[in-house]
Order: sequence, then structure tokens, then C-alpha cells
Amino acid sequence: MTRPLPLRLILALAAVMLLPACRPPAPAPAAPAPPALVVILTVDQLKADYLSRFDGQWRHGMRRLLEHGAVFADTRFPYLNTVTCAGHATIATGSVPATHGVILNAWYRRTLGRQASCTHDETVTTVPYDGAPEGERHSAAMLQVPTIGDRLRDRTPGSRVVTLSLKPRSAIMLGGHQPTAVTWFGSGRGWATSSAFADAPVPEVAAWVAAHPVDRFRTETWERSLGPGDYAMPDDGAGERALPGWTAEFPHPLAGAPGTPEDQFYELWQASPYADEYLGAMAAGLVESMGLGRQDTPDYLGVSFSSLDLIGHNFGPDSQEVQDALVRLDRTLGTLFNDLDRLVGPDRWVVALSSDHGVSPVPEARRLAGLDAGRIPTRVVGAAVDAALATVLGPGPHVARVDYTEVYLTDETRARLTASPDAPDAITAALEAIRQIPGIEAAFESRTIAGARQDADPLVRAAAHSHHPGQSGDLVAIPRPYWFFVTGPTAESGSAATHGTHHDYDVAVPLIFMGAPFAPGRYDEPASPADLAPTLAATIDLPMPGVDGRVLERARRR
Ligand SMILES: [Zn+2]
Repeated sequence: MTRPLPLRLILALAAVMLLPACRPPAPAPAAPAPPALVVILTVDQLKADYLSRFDGQWRHGMRRLLEHGAVFADTRFPYLNTVTCAGHATIATGSVPATHGVILNAWYRRTLGRQASCTHDETVTTVPYDGAPEGERHSAAMLQVPTIGDRLRDRTPGSRVVTLSLKPRSAIMLGGHQPTAVTWFGSGRGWATSSAFADAPVPEVAAWVAAHPVDRFRTETWERSLGPGDYAMPDDGAGERALPGWTAEFPHPLAGAPGTPEDQFYELWQASPYADEYLGAMAAGLVESMGLGRQDTPDYLGVSFSSLDLIGHNFGPDSQEVQDALVRLDRTLGTLFNDLDRLVGPDRWVVALSSDHGVSPVPEARRLAGLDAGRIPTRVVGAAVDAALATVLGPGPHVARVDYTEVYLTDETRARLTASPDAPDAITAALEAIRQIPGIEAAFESRTIAGARQDADPLVRAAAHSHHPGQSGDLVAIPRPYWFFVTGPTAESGSAATHGTHHDYDVAVPLIFMGAPFAPGRYDEPASPADLAPTLAATIDLPMPGVDGRVLERARRR
């Protein structure tokens, strides 16, 4: 028989077994201090699948993001008009175009009676740094909600909001209504800001630009940075459209071929990786000279790298140029992250990286493979609608303008439709005429989709997320997969590839957060670039009520 355990032994065993429960709870790991600098990086036209397609080549910044960041691998814009201005506005405000009002890069303004860019504002003037021509008029007036930077400055006016990009629309939408310094490459000739944001050049930006003249790059040539066998595609792929001064093949001299006009250098520099390297260095330079991330209240830095977009439009997403631009962007990001560690301190800054849209394949390349693809001139849409409306209403013109998917009718035609018993027939005829155009998937009357963000039809949902009653057209024309709109006269016009639809290659983009407040890993829950700003703002306890996006709580370290 077994002997009962002595009482002393029982107590000792019990003490051991109970030990963990009796111990005072281990102190929770100290919550990370709030970041002193929040950074938004956008890479213009960085489609989601580039990250995996080129996974083997990431060594620097992209590698650091993928290994140490919270990666939302299923991120899509929920709306139709996937273009730069709308995308940057969505990223910075946490809301979609139906809410923030920036529906396209440029659209017909009924109040002006003409098309104007998303940043056009008659009431302001250019403030040049180094020779950008005066006369451009940019502000954030069309942006109808605050950005993360606006909310930050409302809470702590001492916080600095600094944004920069080659493109005014990207820098301005990342910044918002009251940035400290917003800088872009004006008219493609020099750095500039606007009287909307500063009465005079910002001293730190002026000093950096003066010390780093872009003209220094005139003698550079963009060569491949990898070995010839390391590129996935041939150098002269189907449908590549080189900028004037270049051919479709490497090398690409920034001054252009002999005989290229001198001013063309500025276009070629912007469409080279040198411009993104410049922006990365400029960002670090301003962090240093302005002391960003070194005061009691958090600062915000927004950088939009534009060159990949210009390269992708001209050479297409499957080009050696795009792959090489990404190799070099990886280095640019790595250098910037190292600079932020040095200038702000490791774990004192937090970053979110995303993109404003993806990009379509080049139609010619798909056609060679026997697949359906093409370009739709917007003037074909306008002519079809004009003709259809004329059969019911009499001679036009009935169409004021077509911008991408948006068909704007003239004020006179709108008034006649409002009063006419034939209005339903006229609209039906116009929509049917649009649907007959090669490459069109669907057409709607805009007012029937307004507010239909929860509709069962994903196409209607996407269009509704882009629809803003005060800004959108009267009819919406939606292209089929691998078709896109061009403003030129024929189906051969326009760039090699573009974006601006609800199709997956346009809406799927990366979304990565990195820094002490985030738990690294891959997150498969669906996310939107509209989630970027509220999620980043949560790291500095900055609430963003009323936005369409949400805080991606799962990625936050607690
Ligand atoms: Zn863009």
C-alpha cells in the first residue's frame, strides 16, 4: 500500500504548484512611449504585387518594412477613381472621395465652367524656391475634410506638419489645410510652395534647395543597377513609350539624347530614380534642420515618391525600368530609415507606407498574348452621349466635358432634363450609347448610385465611394478590365499604362506600419488605405472621429 504523503511534503508541493498564482503579477511590458515623429510615405503607383514579385531583391528599407513591420497584405481602395489626388487625400484624411470631395486629379468645375486640377485655387499664388515659374495656383481648398496633420495642429499648434513630393497634388493632399511646410517641384522646373501655406519661402526648405541644385544631375545617366540577367522582363517590352529624349532601352541620359531641348532635363530627371533619391535626402535634411521629432509635441512628415509613377506610365509595370526604380527605391527608403534612427532616435518615430493606386498592364502586351485590352478616348464617350441625347432632346452640345469616368452635361441640358417628361428616355438612351462603346463594362446615372456604398453590386459600391454630389459628373462610364480612358484623340493616344478604375490591379496597394507601437507580422484581414491615418493617429492618441477608415487594432502592440 502506498503511504500517505507527509503533511509537510503536501504543503511544499502545494506551495510549488500555487507559486505562479501567488506571485504578484509580472509587470506588464512598459507601453512604448508615443512617437515623437509620425511619418507617412507614399510611393506613387506602387501596386501591391510588386512587394512579392521582387521579394528576392529587397535588401534595405523594403526589407526592414517587411521583416519588422505590420504588413496588411489584403489592402484595397474601395472606390472607382483610383488616381493620385484622390488616393493621397484618402491616405491623409482617412476618408474616401465621397466624403473628402477630391474625386480625380482634375475635373469639370461647374462653378468655373471648365476643368481644373484638384489643387487649383484662383485666390493664391506660387511661392518659388529656385526658379519655378510663378502663376501656378495651388491650395487644399477642394479638400473638404481635415487631414491627420490638420487634426494634429488643431490639438497641438506647436506640432510641425511637413510634406514634400514632386507633385503639388501629392504634397498638398498629404499636408492638408495648415501645414508648416509643403514643397513640390513646380511646373517641373523648380521647387515651390504656395501663398496658401506660406507668405515667403520656408527658410529651412530654401537652405536645403539652395545647397542641392537639381541641375547637378544634368550629367547623370540612369543605368541598370542589377546584372542584365537579374531583370524579369526584356528591356524593350511591347507598348513601352519612352519620354522624348529617351528610347525604350537603357541607358537613359538625364540630359536626353543629343539635340534634346535643355528644358526636357527636368522631365527626364523626375522620371528617373534620382528624383526619388533627392526627395528622400530632402526629407532627412528637413528632419534635421527643422528638428522634427525633437520636441514635446509630435511632428508629422509626409513624403510622396513620384518617380515610379512617371516611369510606370511610360514604360509599363512589367519593364526593366520599373524593376530598377524599385531596386533603387529600396535603398532610398533604407537610407531614410537610418537617418530617422540617427536624427530622431530608434523607436521614437513611426511610419506607415502605402500607395495612391496601382497600375494596369500595357494593353499592347496583353493583346500580343491574345487577351482583351485597350484604351477608350473620353471624346468617344462624349460624342456618343451627345448623339444619344440629341435623338430625344434635339441638337446639342449636351456634354460639357468627360473626365475619366465622369460625364458632365451642360447646365442647359441639365435644366432641360429637369423640366422634360422625356428625361428618363434621354438618360436611358445616353447610358445605352455608353454601354455600346468598346471597352465599357457599365454605365450609370450618377444620382442613382449616390449613397449606395453598401450596395450588393461591387461595381455600384465602388462608384458610390467615388461619387461626390457637388463634384461628380451626371453619368458614370466604367471600363472593363484592362481598358482605360485616355484624353487624346484616338485609342492609340495616352500613356503606355495607367490607372483609375476599380479593377484589382488599380485598387490593391501595400499597407505597412512600422515602429514600436506596432506588432510586426502579416495581417490577412481586409484593410483600406483609408485605415492608414486613423491607425497612425492612434499611436499619438489623436482621435479621428467621423472618418470612413478605422483603426487597425490588431496590429497595435499593447
Ligand atoms: Zn499617383
